[in-house]
Amino acid sequence: MVDYKKIGLVNTRAMFAKAVDGGYAIPAFNFNNMEQMQAIIMAAVETKSPVILQVSKGARDYANQTLLRYMAEGAVEYAKELGCAHPEIVLHLDHGDSFETCKSCIDMGFSSVMIDGSALPYDENVAVTKKVVEYAHQFDVTVEGELGVLAGVEDEVSAAESHYTKPEEVIDFVTKTGVDSLAISIGTSHGAYKFTPEQCTVDPATGRLVPPPLAFDVLSAIEKKLPGFPIVLHGSSSVPQDEVDTINANGGCLKAAVGIPEEQLRKAAKSAVCKINIDSDSRLAMTAAIRKHMAEHPDHFDPRQYLKPARESMKKMYIHKIVNVLGSNGKLAIQ
Ligand SMILES: [Zn+2]
Repeated sequence: MVDYKKIGLVNTRAMFAKAVDGGYAIPAFNFNNMEQMQAIIMAAVETKSPVILQVSKGARDYANQTLLRYMAEGAVEYAKELGCAHPEIVLHLDHGDSFETCKSCIDMGFSSVMIDGSALPYDENVAVTKKVVEYAHQFDVTVEGELGVLAGVEDEVSAAESHYTKPEEVIDFVTKTGVDSLAISIGTSHGAYKFTPEQCTVDPATGRLVPPPLAFDVLSAIEKKLPGFPIVLHGSSSVPQDEVDTINANGGCLKAAVGIPEEQLRKAAKSAVCKINIDSDSRLAMTAAIRKHMAEHPDHFDPRQYLKPARESMKKMYIHKIVNVLGSNGKLAIQ
């Protein structure tokens, strides 16, 4: 049993309470490799922002759960070396699919876990979430549950259509399970293809696809039922069109990739939404930078030559999200 506090990590409780009060959201960035992790920590340190490092099932399969957990321990020391004396870094399991997966992460030093029972019948979702909460709270590990179904594909989490969270269920779910935060479905979606062209309208000025707006009425109905309770949005990449264009101009082929407009996320961050998950935008920033570098330097073969600009590009994107979308800059408890 590893005590996450001994390796310098924190859980989400205090940072979420502060974020709900302050009208901003904490960034939850997925990481799968060293360059992503470095970019996330550099961005968090430069902006003095708390940050959640998320590990998905795909990341655990790709990079190994144990290695990722030690990288997070390294991330704490790295942040201190970069000049942040009191970093607030959460190591979070994204989309835990069973009690056993959550337990194994808690036992090895994760400070927060998500148990995603959203695809199960309601009573089974309640039962498994409650079981994870009872185990996690013994070690002061915080737990995120989910109600409602997001469309799209995120690693191995996928659903063909979304079902908005039912506001009438949230009080019962939170009371019965004891979760610390709740992921809801209000129209965000996993992956870089969040909406089909048929779901979108076309901006006549640019010819770009404009996605349908988020269901802010559902969000405010949930906020009324659970005043001040921490709400989480998954699938909240914006799929920047300049990155998509760079990829396509340098040999890529991403057709009709579309995300959530940043002004909608900015609005959500000011509400009880206190954790916003961003994964695809980092993938796009990395791929665009690598494709561009490869096209401009066909003679390069040292991975450091193209991973360095890729890391820079991700860092720039993370800083942009923190400062211009989520508003978590300057929000460390001890600056
Ligand atoms: Zn998700």
